[in-house]
Amino acid sequence: NTCDAEKSYEVLLSFVISELSKGKLYHEEGTQECATIIPVAWSPESMEKYLQVFCLPFLRITSLLQHHLFGEDLPSCQEEEEFSVLSSCLGLLPTFYQTEHPFISASCLDWPVPAFDIISQWCFEINSFTERHAEQGKALLIQESKWKLPHLLQLPENYNTIFQYYHRKTCSVCTKVPKDPAVCLVCGTFVCLKGLCCKQQSYCECVLHSQNCGAGTGIFLLINASVIIIIRGHRFCLWGSVYLDAHGEEDRDLRRGKPLYICKERYKVLEQQWISHTFDHINKRWGPHYNGL
Ligand SMILES: [Zn+2]
Ligand SMILES: [Zn+2]
Ligand SMILES: [Zn+2]
Repeated sequence: NTCDAEKSYEVLLSFVISELSKGKLYHEEGTQECATIIPVAWSPESMEKYLQVFCLPFLRITSLLQHHLFGEDLPSCQEEEEFSVLSSCLGLLPTFYQTEHPFISASCLDWPVPAFDIISQWCFEINSFTERHAEQGKALLIQESKWKLPHLLQLPENYNTIFQYYHRKTCSVCTKVPKDPAVCLVCGTFVCLKGLCCKQQSYCECVLHSQNCGAGTGIFLLINASVIIIIRGHRFCLWGSVYLDAHGEEDRDLRRGKPLYICKERYKVLEQQWISHTFDHINKRWGPHYNGL
């Protein structure tokens, strides 16, 4: 019966395979590599485990959203029952579901439209995409479902590496070497600090970039000074440097010209303040920038 078939991963999977084999996805060279990426002997148990592992990140994010939006409690549980606990908390488990063993993730499936129609449609879209972009089509199928915390750019050990790379670099907007070059530590964009060359309306490039890159928050490394500035809306502050000399001292504006090495602890602090949105509460002197940075 259709209802049982729509909740059986064997039936659904064989349907997916037959739909996908209509396209070129598995006909190209390189199929060998794909097969060796997952060194699992397939069995009903390993299949079930793989399905749960693949779906868990989505269940976690949805549970978090539900918690923050509707104030539902986040349940605590043992690692091995996380899937069933989260899906029950999200209302995905049918109410009559008994916690019998073994747990089958497919029992959470509740298709709003006939499953086979929508799967056909998905497979058709992947097939026609792969027709046009063979490589990207394959990349879509082999997805790493783990998400990492956001992080700032990785910086080199020695400040000289940064200075040599950036101090004669040209800006891609004005194609000139900026007088005061700066780098966004979130995305790596190179900008002309205070430069009239890259001013748009009344906004200088750093301020503009902080709006586009961080919705008003920007973290920039000033190449010729080795210091970092933070922009928050209409204000900015001098955060300090994450590069120190052998005695643990900053060399603002690179006046002494001593070799500078990264202080990983300081950079961690900066990153933590960015991730936790606490720039407004740090003990720095803030002032208006009048869009002139
Ligand atoms: Zn940026
Ligand atoms: Zn520029
Ligand atoms: Zn410029």
